[in-house]
Amino acid sequence: MSVDSLEWLTIAMREFAKEREWDQFHSPKNLSMALAGETGELLDCFRWLTEEASYQLDAQQAQAVKEELADVLLFTVCLADKLDINLFEAAQEKMLKNESHYPADRVKGCAKKYTEY
Ligand SMILES: [Mg+2]
Repeated sequence: MSVDSLEWLTIAMREFAKEREWDQFHSPKNLSMALAGETGELLDCFRWLTEEASYQLDAQQAQAVKEELADVLLFTVCLADKLDINLFEAAQEKMLKNESHYPADRVKGCAKKYTEY
């Protein structure tokens, strides 16, 4: 198993929680709330930045974004594990759905939601 796989991350997170007896707190409800919280922390990294500044993060800002993205991934992996969801399969299915909702020839250069065009 590759250490850069979601499977490895899933097992590592199970062990991390087990060693701390935190699994008792990891209901799907709590994990989804934790995921939303981490997403909020990611958003906070960009709060009040201009569009241009959001591309030009300094080292401290870039590190903060990196850590919050990692938190989002880790809680996503935990929640998917708890609900027995294969994230690669789910993402592939969602990409197919997105391709159906957003045919390139119809939406090129348009940022509207598929229900709006
Ligand atoms: Mg965080």
